[in-house]
Amino acid sequence: MTRTIHIIGGGLAGLSAAVKFTAHGDDVVVHEATGFAGGRCRSYHDAAVGMVIDNGNHLLLSGNRAALGYLREIGAEGHLIGPANAEFPFVDFASGEHWTLRFNDGRVPFWIFDPARRVPGTRALDYLALARLLWAAPGTTVGDVIACKGTLYYRLVEPLLLAALNIDPPRGSATLAAAVIRETLAAGGRACRPLIARDGLSATLIEPALAFLQQRGATVRLGHQLHTIRFGTRRVDALDFGGETIALANEDEVILAVPPYAAATLVRGLDVPNEFRAIVNAHFRIDPPAGQPPILGVINGTVEWLFAFPGRLSVTVSAGDRLIDTPREELAKAIWAEVANLTGLRAETPTGLPPWQIVRERRATFAATPAQEAKRPGAETAWRNLVLAGDWTDTGLPATIEGAIRSGNRAAEIIASR
Ligand SMILES: Cc1cc2nc3c(=O)[nH]c(=O)nc-3n(C[C@H](O)[C@H](O)[C@H](O)COP(=O)(O)OP(=O)(O)OC[C@H]3O[C@@H](n4cnc5c(N)ncnc54)[C@H](O)[C@@H]3O)c2cc1C
Repeated sequence: MTRTIHIIGGGLAGLSAAVKFTAHGDDVVVHEATGFAGGRCRSYHDAAVGMVIDNGNHLLLSGNRAALGYLREIGAEGHLIGPANAEFPFVDFASGEHWTLRFNDGRVPFWIFDPARRVPGTRALDYLALARLLWAAPGTTVGDVIACKGTLYYRLVEPLLLAALNIDPPRGSATLAAAVIRETLAAGGRACRPLIARDGLSATLIEPALAFLQQRGATVRLGHQLHTIRFGTRRVDALDFGGETIALANEDEVILAVPPYAAATLVRGLDVPNEFRAIVNAHFRIDPPAGQPPILGVINGTVEWLFAFPGRLSVTVSAGDRLIDTPREELAKAIWAEVANLTGLRAETPTGLPPWQIVRERRATFAATPAQEAKRPGAETAWRNLVLAGDWTDTGLPATIEGAIRSGNRAAEIIASR
Protein backbone atom coordinates (compact mmCIF):
# COMPACT_ATOMS: atom_id res chain seq x y z
CA MET A 1 0.00 0.00 0.00
CA THR A 2 1.33 3.49 -0.85
CA ARG A 3 1.91 5.72 2.08
CA THR A 4 0.94 9.39 2.05
CA ILE A 5 3.35 12.06 3.14
CA HIS A 6 1.47 15.07 4.52
CA ILE A 7 3.56 18.19 4.47
CA ILE A 8 2.24 21.10 6.49
CA GLY A 9 3.53 24.44 5.17
CA GLY A 10 4.32 25.38 1.58
CA GLY A 11 7.46 27.43 2.23
CA LEU A 12 10.85 26.31 0.95
CA ALA A 13 11.29 23.74 3.72
CA GLY A 14 7.96 22.08 2.87
CA LEU A 15 8.44 22.34 -0.89
CA SER A 16 11.95 20.90 -0.83
CA ALA A 17 10.74 17.90 1.19
CA ALA A 18 7.81 17.48 -1.21
CA VAL A 19 10.17 17.53 -4.21
CA LYS A 20 12.34 14.79 -2.67
CA PHE A 21 9.39 12.46 -1.99
CA THR A 22 7.66 13.14 -5.29
CA ALA A 23 10.86 12.34 -7.15
CA HIS A 24 10.81 8.93 -5.36
CA GLY A 25 7.18 8.20 -6.24
CA ASP A 26 5.50 8.67 -2.84
CA ASP A 27 2.01 10.17 -2.52
CA VAL A 28 2.53 13.73 -1.34
CA VAL A 29 0.04 16.31 -0.13
CA VAL A 30 1.23 19.81 0.78
CA HIS A 31 -1.17 21.73 3.03
CA GLU A 32 -0.54 25.48 2.96
CA ALA A 33 -2.56 27.86 5.13
CA THR A 34 -2.43 30.90 2.86
CA GLY A 35 -3.52 31.32 -0.74
CA PHE A 36 0.06 31.08 -2.08
CA ALA A 37 3.13 28.91 -1.71
CA GLY A 38 6.56 30.29 -0.85
CA GLY A 39 6.03 31.58 2.70
CA ARG A 40 8.68 34.18 3.47
CA CYS A 41 10.21 33.80 0.02
CA ARG A 42 7.63 34.88 -2.52
CA SER A 43 6.62 37.40 -5.19
CA TYR A 44 3.34 39.22 -5.54
CA HIS A 45 1.75 41.90 -7.72
CA ASP A 46 2.00 45.16 -5.85
CA ALA A 47 -0.55 47.83 -6.76
CA ALA A 48 1.54 50.77 -5.50
CA VAL A 49 4.44 50.05 -7.86
CA GLY A 50 2.23 48.38 -10.48
CA MET A 51 4.49 45.38 -10.95
CA VAL A 52 5.41 42.01 -9.49
CA ILE A 53 7.89 42.40 -6.64
CA ASP A 54 9.42 40.08 -4.08
CA ASN A 55 8.49 40.34 -0.41
CA GLY A 56 12.21 40.90 0.12
CA ASN A 57 15.42 40.72 -1.87
CA HIS A 58 16.99 37.33 -1.37
CA LEU A 59 20.62 36.61 -2.07
CA LEU A 60 21.99 33.13 -2.64
CA LEU A 61 25.66 32.21 -2.91
CA SER A 62 27.21 29.68 -5.27
CA GLY A 63 28.20 27.61 -2.20
CA ASN A 64 24.55 27.10 -1.19
CA ARG A 65 24.69 23.49 -2.32
CA ALA A 66 21.25 22.39 -1.10
CA ALA A 67 19.52 25.40 -2.68
CA LEU A 68 21.31 24.82 -5.98
CA GLY A 69 20.51 21.09 -5.82
CA TYR A 70 16.84 21.92 -5.29
CA LEU A 71 16.86 24.32 -8.24
CA ARG A 72 18.55 21.69 -10.42
CA GLU A 73 15.95 19.12 -9.42
CA ILE A 74 13.01 21.39 -10.33
CA GLY A 75 14.74 22.53 -13.53
CA ALA A 76 15.23 26.16 -12.47
CA GLU A 77 18.96 26.48 -11.88
CA GLY A 78 19.30 28.68 -14.96
CA HIS A 79 16.94 31.26 -13.43
CA LEU A 80 19.64 32.63 -11.14
CA ILE A 81 21.99 35.30 -12.41
CA GLY A 82 25.34 36.36 -11.04
CA PRO A 83 28.85 37.36 -12.06
CA ALA A 84 31.32 34.74 -13.33
CA ASN A 85 33.57 35.44 -10.33
CA ALA A 86 32.98 36.24 -6.68
CA GLU A 87 32.91 40.03 -6.83
CA PHE A 88 31.12 42.46 -4.54
CA PRO A 89 31.14 46.18 -5.34
CA PHE A 90 30.86 48.43 -2.28
CA VAL A 91 30.49 52.13 -1.61
CA ASP A 92 31.07 53.99 1.65
CA PHE A 93 28.59 56.82 2.10
CA ALA A 94 30.72 58.55 4.71
CA SER A 95 33.94 58.75 2.68
CA GLY A 96 32.57 58.41 -0.86
CA GLU A 97 35.06 55.59 -1.53
CA HIS A 98 34.17 52.80 -3.95
CA TRP A 99 35.84 49.40 -4.11
CA THR A 100 35.18 45.88 -5.30
CA LEU A 101 35.99 42.84 -3.19
CA ARG A 102 37.39 40.17 -5.47
CA PHE A 103 37.79 36.73 -3.93
CA ASN A 104 39.99 34.21 -5.71
CA ASP A 105 38.38 30.86 -6.55
CA GLY A 106 40.43 28.48 -4.41
CA ARG A 107 40.46 27.95 -0.65
CA VAL A 108 43.81 29.68 -0.13
CA PRO A 109 42.77 33.34 0.27
CA PHE A 110 45.31 35.04 -2.02
CA TRP A 111 42.91 37.97 -2.26
CA ILE A 112 43.71 39.15 1.26
CA PHE A 113 47.33 39.74 0.19
CA ASP A 114 46.31 41.88 -2.79
CA PRO A 115 45.38 45.52 -2.02
CA ALA A 116 43.42 45.66 -5.29
CA ARG A 117 41.18 42.76 -4.19
CA ARG A 118 40.82 43.20 -0.42
CA VAL A 119 39.01 45.88 1.58
CA PRO A 120 40.82 49.24 1.26
CA GLY A 121 42.44 50.35 4.50
CA THR A 122 43.04 46.77 5.76
CA ARG A 123 46.13 44.56 6.04
CA ALA A 124 46.38 40.83 5.40
CA LEU A 125 46.98 40.23 9.10
CA ASP A 126 43.62 41.79 10.03
CA TYR A 127 41.87 38.89 8.31
CA LEU A 128 43.56 36.26 10.46
CA ALA A 129 41.57 37.43 13.49
CA LEU A 130 38.45 36.15 11.74
CA ALA A 131 39.74 32.60 12.03
CA ARG A 132 39.07 32.81 15.79
CA LEU A 133 35.36 32.65 14.98
CA LEU A 134 35.83 29.22 13.41
CA TRP A 135 36.72 27.74 16.81
CA ALA A 136 34.21 29.72 18.85
CA ALA A 137 32.70 27.88 21.81
CA PRO A 138 28.96 27.19 21.77
CA GLY A 139 27.01 29.83 23.69
CA THR A 140 29.38 32.68 22.83
CA THR A 141 28.53 35.77 20.82
CA VAL A 142 30.50 37.26 17.94
CA GLY A 143 31.35 40.16 20.27
CA ASP A 144 32.85 37.68 22.77
CA VAL A 145 35.21 36.30 20.14
CA ILE A 146 36.34 39.13 17.86
CA ALA A 147 36.72 42.88 18.27
CA CYS A 148 33.70 44.39 16.54
CA LYS A 149 35.45 47.55 15.40
CA GLY A 150 38.05 48.70 12.90
CA THR A 151 38.02 49.01 9.12
CA LEU A 152 37.76 45.29 8.31
CA TYR A 153 34.85 44.92 10.71
CA TYR A 154 32.85 47.87 9.36
CA ARG A 155 33.60 47.18 5.70
CA LEU A 156 33.37 43.38 5.51
CA VAL A 157 32.53 41.49 8.69
CA GLU A 158 29.57 43.63 9.73
CA PRO A 159 27.85 43.69 6.32
CA LEU A 160 28.45 39.95 5.81
CA LEU A 161 27.22 38.84 9.24
CA LEU A 162 24.39 41.36 9.42
CA ALA A 163 23.04 40.05 6.11
CA ALA A 164 23.56 36.38 6.94
CA LEU A 165 22.48 36.37 10.60
CA ASN A 166 19.97 39.24 10.45
CA ILE A 167 21.10 40.56 13.82
CA ASP A 168 23.50 43.22 15.03
CA PRO A 169 26.64 41.03 14.73
CA PRO A 170 28.19 41.57 18.21
CA ARG A 171 25.05 39.99 19.75
CA GLY A 172 24.87 37.18 17.18
CA SER A 173 25.75 33.56 17.87
CA ALA A 174 29.45 32.97 17.19
CA THR A 175 28.77 29.38 16.10
CA LEU A 176 26.26 30.56 13.48
CA ALA A 177 28.74 33.21 12.33
CA ALA A 178 31.38 30.47 12.11
CA ALA A 179 29.07 28.36 9.94
CA VAL A 180 28.60 31.30 7.59
CA ILE A 181 32.33 31.98 7.35
CA ARG A 182 33.13 28.28 6.91
CA GLU A 183 30.70 28.03 3.98
CA THR A 184 31.67 31.36 2.38
CA LEU A 185 35.01 33.12 2.96
CA ALA A 186 36.82 29.99 4.13
CA ALA A 187 35.46 27.93 1.23
CA GLY A 188 36.99 30.28 -1.36
CA GLY A 189 35.53 32.42 -4.12
CA ARG A 190 33.96 29.43 -5.86
CA ALA A 191 31.45 29.32 -2.99
CA CYS A 192 30.92 33.09 -2.82
CA ARG A 193 29.51 34.09 -6.19
CA PRO A 194 26.37 36.15 -5.49
CA LEU A 195 23.26 34.75 -7.19
CA ILE A 196 20.01 36.63 -7.65
CA ALA A 197 16.56 35.55 -8.80
CA ARG A 198 16.37 38.23 -11.46
CA ASP A 199 12.85 37.36 -12.61
CA GLY A 200 11.55 37.10 -9.06
CA LEU A 201 11.60 34.65 -6.19
CA SER A 202 8.37 32.89 -7.15
CA ALA A 203 9.35 32.49 -10.81
CA THR A 204 12.67 30.98 -9.70
CA LEU A 205 12.13 29.04 -6.49
CA ILE A 206 8.40 28.44 -6.13
CA GLU A 207 6.50 28.15 -9.43
CA PRO A 208 8.92 25.62 -10.99
CA ALA A 209 8.59 23.52 -7.81
CA LEU A 210 4.79 23.65 -8.01
CA ALA A 211 4.94 22.64 -11.68
CA PHE A 212 7.35 19.80 -10.82
CA LEU A 213 5.03 18.56 -8.07
CA GLN A 214 1.94 18.83 -10.24
CA GLN A 215 3.53 16.93 -13.14
CA ARG A 216 4.41 14.10 -10.78
CA GLY A 217 0.95 13.85 -9.24
CA ALA A 218 1.54 15.55 -5.88
CA THR A 219 -1.28 17.64 -4.44
CA VAL A 220 -0.81 21.18 -3.16
CA ARG A 221 -3.79 22.42 -1.17
CA LEU A 222 -3.73 26.19 -0.69
CA GLY A 223 -5.92 27.86 1.93
CA HIS A 224 -5.72 24.62 3.93
CA GLN A 225 -4.60 25.52 7.42
CA LEU A 226 -3.85 22.82 9.94
CA HIS A 227 -5.77 23.66 13.12
CA THR A 228 -4.91 20.78 15.43
CA ILE A 229 -2.76 17.68 15.46
CA ARG A 230 -4.47 14.72 17.12
CA PHE A 231 -1.79 12.80 18.98
CA GLY A 232 -1.90 9.13 19.92
CA THR A 233 0.60 7.63 22.36
CA ARG A 234 3.63 7.49 20.06
CA ARG A 235 2.21 8.68 16.77
CA VAL A 236 0.04 11.30 15.17
CA ASP A 237 -3.40 9.81 14.59
CA ALA A 238 -5.11 12.57 12.62
CA LEU A 239 -4.77 16.07 11.19
CA ASP A 240 -7.63 18.45 11.88
CA PHE A 241 -8.07 21.26 9.32
CA GLY A 242 -11.19 22.75 10.88
CA GLY A 243 -13.89 21.61 8.46
CA GLU A 244 -12.00 18.43 7.57
CA THR A 245 -10.12 15.79 9.56
CA ILE A 246 -7.68 13.44 7.86
CA ALA A 247 -7.09 10.16 9.69
CA LEU A 248 -3.59 8.82 9.17
CA ALA A 249 -2.93 5.25 8.13
CA ASN A 250 -0.18 3.42 9.99
CA GLU A 251 2.45 4.07 7.32
CA ASP A 252 1.54 7.74 6.69
CA GLU A 253 4.00 10.44 7.68
CA VAL A 254 3.74 14.12 8.63
CA ILE A 255 6.34 16.82 8.08
CA LEU A 256 5.55 19.97 10.00
CA ALA A 257 7.25 22.78 8.04
CA VAL A 258 5.56 25.84 9.55
CA PRO A 259 7.20 28.82 11.30
CA PRO A 260 8.25 28.28 14.94
CA TYR A 261 5.35 30.19 16.50
CA ALA A 262 2.88 28.06 14.51
CA ALA A 263 4.70 24.82 15.41
CA ALA A 264 4.59 25.72 19.11
CA THR A 265 0.80 26.03 19.04
CA LEU A 266 0.40 22.72 17.19
CA VAL A 267 2.85 20.53 19.15
CA ARG A 268 2.53 20.42 22.92
CA GLY A 269 5.69 21.05 24.90
CA LEU A 270 7.78 22.05 21.87
CA ASP A 271 10.44 24.62 22.78
CA VAL A 272 11.16 26.88 19.79
CA PRO A 273 12.95 30.15 19.05
CA ASN A 274 10.58 32.91 20.13
CA GLU A 275 12.48 36.13 19.42
CA PHE A 276 12.63 37.53 15.92
CA ARG A 277 14.30 40.21 13.83
CA ALA A 278 12.75 42.25 11.03
CA ILE A 279 13.94 42.86 7.48
CA VAL A 280 12.86 46.03 5.71
CA ASN A 281 12.78 46.31 1.93
CA ALA A 282 12.08 49.39 -0.16
CA HIS A 283 11.17 48.97 -3.82
CA PHE A 284 11.25 51.80 -6.40
CA ARG A 285 9.84 51.46 -9.88
CA ILE A 286 12.52 53.08 -12.01
CA ASP A 287 15.01 51.85 -14.60
CA PRO A 288 18.44 51.33 -13.04
CA PRO A 289 21.12 53.45 -14.72
CA ALA A 290 23.38 51.77 -17.27
CA GLY A 291 26.18 49.87 -15.57
CA GLN A 292 24.42 49.62 -12.18
CA PRO A 293 25.68 46.35 -10.62
CA PRO A 294 22.98 43.77 -9.76
CA ILE A 295 23.97 44.09 -6.10
CA LEU A 296 25.85 46.91 -4.38
CA GLY A 297 26.98 46.87 -0.73
CA VAL A 298 26.60 50.19 1.08
CA ILE A 299 28.50 51.18 4.23
CA ASN A 300 27.42 53.98 6.58
CA GLY A 301 23.94 54.36 5.10
CA THR A 302 20.43 53.25 6.01
CA VAL A 303 20.61 51.33 2.75
CA GLU A 304 22.70 48.20 3.27
CA TRP A 305 22.32 46.50 -0.12
CA LEU A 306 21.00 48.02 -3.34
CA PHE A 307 19.65 45.49 -5.84
CA ALA A 308 19.03 46.37 -9.50
CA PHE A 309 16.28 44.49 -11.35
CA PRO A 310 14.74 45.22 -14.75
CA GLY A 311 12.62 48.37 -14.17
CA ARG A 312 13.19 48.43 -10.40
CA LEU A 313 15.69 49.33 -7.72
CA SER A 314 15.31 47.65 -4.41
CA VAL A 315 16.91 48.14 -1.02
CA THR A 316 17.45 45.76 1.90
CA VAL A 317 17.91 46.73 5.53
CA SER A 318 18.58 43.76 7.83
CA ALA A 319 17.81 43.68 11.56
CA GLY A 320 15.50 46.54 10.60
CA ASP A 321 13.49 46.60 13.85
CA ARG A 322 14.49 50.23 14.45
CA LEU A 323 12.58 51.17 11.28
CA ILE A 324 9.36 49.30 12.04
CA ASP A 325 7.56 52.33 13.51
CA THR A 326 8.93 54.98 11.14
CA PRO A 327 6.05 56.35 9.03
CA ARG A 328 6.15 54.73 5.61
CA GLU A 329 6.38 57.98 3.59
CA GLU A 330 9.22 59.24 5.78
CA LEU A 331 11.11 56.00 5.33
CA ALA A 332 10.53 55.89 1.56
CA LYS A 333 11.79 59.49 1.23
CA ALA A 334 14.89 58.88 3.33
CA ILE A 335 15.78 55.68 1.50
CA TRP A 336 15.10 57.20 -1.93
CA ALA A 337 17.40 60.14 -1.09
CA GLU A 338 20.21 57.64 -0.53
CA VAL A 339 19.36 55.66 -3.67
CA ALA A 340 19.29 58.86 -5.75
CA ASN A 341 22.69 59.76 -4.34
CA LEU A 342 24.08 56.30 -5.13
CA THR A 343 22.73 56.11 -8.67
CA GLY A 344 22.54 59.75 -9.80
CA LEU A 345 18.85 59.19 -10.69
CA ARG A 346 16.10 61.79 -10.27
CA ALA A 347 12.40 60.97 -10.19
CA GLU A 348 10.39 63.31 -12.42
CA THR A 349 7.23 63.10 -10.30
CA PRO A 350 5.40 65.68 -8.13
CA THR A 351 6.53 63.89 -4.95
CA GLY A 352 10.12 63.56 -6.13
CA LEU A 353 9.86 59.79 -5.61
CA PRO A 354 9.28 57.06 -8.18
CA PRO A 355 6.36 54.72 -7.42
CA TRP A 356 7.47 52.94 -4.24
CA GLN A 357 6.60 50.28 -1.73
CA ILE A 358 7.98 49.51 1.71
CA VAL A 359 7.71 45.88 2.87
CA ARG A 360 8.47 45.28 6.53
CA GLU A 361 8.65 41.62 7.52
CA ARG A 362 8.58 41.80 11.31
CA ARG A 363 9.34 38.15 11.94
CA ALA A 364 11.69 37.70 8.98
CA THR A 365 14.01 35.36 10.91
CA PHE A 366 14.47 34.11 14.44
CA ALA A 367 16.95 36.22 16.38
CA ALA A 368 20.32 34.52 15.85
CA THR A 369 21.48 34.87 19.48
CA PRO A 370 23.10 32.01 21.41
CA ALA A 371 19.99 31.78 23.63
CA GLN A 372 17.66 31.41 20.65
CA GLU A 373 20.09 29.06 18.91
CA ALA A 374 19.83 26.78 21.97
CA LYS A 375 16.07 26.55 21.51
CA ARG A 376 16.23 25.11 17.98
CA PRO A 377 14.85 21.56 18.01
CA GLY A 378 16.17 18.71 15.88
CA ALA A 379 14.00 17.23 13.13
CA GLU A 380 12.90 14.09 14.98
CA THR A 381 10.13 14.25 17.58
CA ALA A 382 8.70 11.95 20.25
CA TRP A 383 6.05 10.88 17.71
CA ARG A 384 7.30 8.34 15.22
CA ASN A 385 5.43 9.74 12.20
CA LEU A 386 6.05 13.44 12.90
CA VAL A 387 9.19 15.21 11.67
CA LEU A 388 9.95 18.92 11.91
CA ALA A 389 11.39 21.14 9.17
CA GLY A 390 11.94 24.87 8.74
CA ASP A 391 14.80 27.37 8.80
CA TRP A 392 14.42 27.61 12.59
CA THR A 393 15.07 23.92 13.29
CA ASP A 394 18.59 22.89 14.25
CA THR A 395 20.26 23.11 10.84
CA GLY A 396 23.52 24.61 12.08
CA LEU A 397 22.89 27.58 9.75
CA PRO A 398 21.14 30.89 10.31
CA ALA A 399 17.58 31.29 9.00
CA THR A 400 18.22 31.23 5.27
CA ILE A 401 16.97 29.62 2.09
CA GLU A 402 19.87 27.18 2.33
CA GLY A 403 18.92 26.27 5.91
CA ALA A 404 15.23 25.87 5.02
CA ILE A 405 16.03 23.57 2.08
CA ARG A 406 18.53 21.52 4.07
CA SER A 407 15.87 21.06 6.74
CA GLY A 408 13.37 19.84 4.14
CA ASN A 409 15.95 17.44 2.69
CA ARG A 410 16.82 16.20 6.18
CA ALA A 411 13.16 15.54 7.03
CA ALA A 412 12.86 13.55 3.81
CA GLU A 413 16.02 11.56 4.61
CA ILE A 414 14.79 10.68 8.09
CA ILE A 415 11.52 9.34 6.74
CA ALA A 416 13.20 7.56 3.83
CA SER A 417 15.59 5.81 6.21
CA ARG A 418 12.76 4.21 8.23
C1 LIG B 1 12.48 39.98 3.78
C2 LIG B 1 13.27 38.71 3.86
C3 LIG B 1 14.54 38.66 3.26
C4 LIG B 1 15.28 37.48 3.32
N1 LIG B 1 16.50 37.44 2.68
C5 LIG B 1 17.14 36.27 2.58
C6 LIG B 1 18.31 36.16 1.79
O1 LIG B 1 18.78 37.15 1.20
N2 LIG B 1 18.92 34.94 1.68
C7 LIG B 1 18.42 33.83 2.31
O2 LIG B 1 18.98 32.75 2.14
N3 LIG B 1 17.31 33.91 3.10
C8 LIG B 1 16.66 35.09 3.25
N4 LIG B 1 15.53 35.18 4.01
C9 LIG B 1 15.09 33.99 4.78
C10 LIG B 1 14.28 32.99 3.94
O3 LIG B 1 13.23 33.65 3.29
C11 LIG B 1 13.71 31.95 4.90
O4 LIG B 1 14.76 31.36 5.63
C12 LIG B 1 12.94 30.83 4.20
O5 LIG B 1 12.07 31.33 3.22
C13 LIG B 1 12.15 30.06 5.27
O6 LIG B 1 11.43 29.00 4.68
P1 LIG B 1 10.58 28.00 5.58
O7 LIG B 1 9.91 27.06 4.67
O8 LIG B 1 11.43 27.48 6.68
O9 LIG B 1 9.49 28.91 6.33
P2 LIG B 1 8.28 29.79 5.74
O10 LIG B 1 8.69 30.44 4.47
O11 LIG B 1 7.84 30.68 6.85
O12 LIG B 1 7.13 28.73 5.39
C14 LIG B 1 6.22 28.25 6.32
C15 LIG B 1 4.88 28.08 5.65
O13 LIG B 1 3.98 27.46 6.57
C16 LIG B 1 2.69 28.03 6.37
N5 LIG B 1 1.87 27.76 7.58
C17 LIG B 1 1.95 28.36 8.79
N6 LIG B 1 1.05 27.79 9.64
C18 LIG B 1 0.40 26.82 8.95
C19 LIG B 1 -0.64 25.90 9.28
N7 LIG B 1 -1.16 25.84 10.51
N8 LIG B 1 -1.09 25.05 8.31
C20 LIG B 1 -0.56 25.09 7.06
N9 LIG B 1 0.44 25.95 6.70
C21 LIG B 1 0.91 26.80 7.63
C22 LIG B 1 3.01 29.49 6.13
O14 LIG B 1 1.93 30.17 5.53
C23 LIG B 1 4.23 29.40 5.23
O15 LIG B 1 3.89 29.34 3.87
C24 LIG B 1 14.78 36.35 4.02
C25 LIG B 1 13.52 36.41 4.63
C26 LIG B 1 12.78 37.57 4.56
C27 LIG B 1 11.42 37.61 5.22
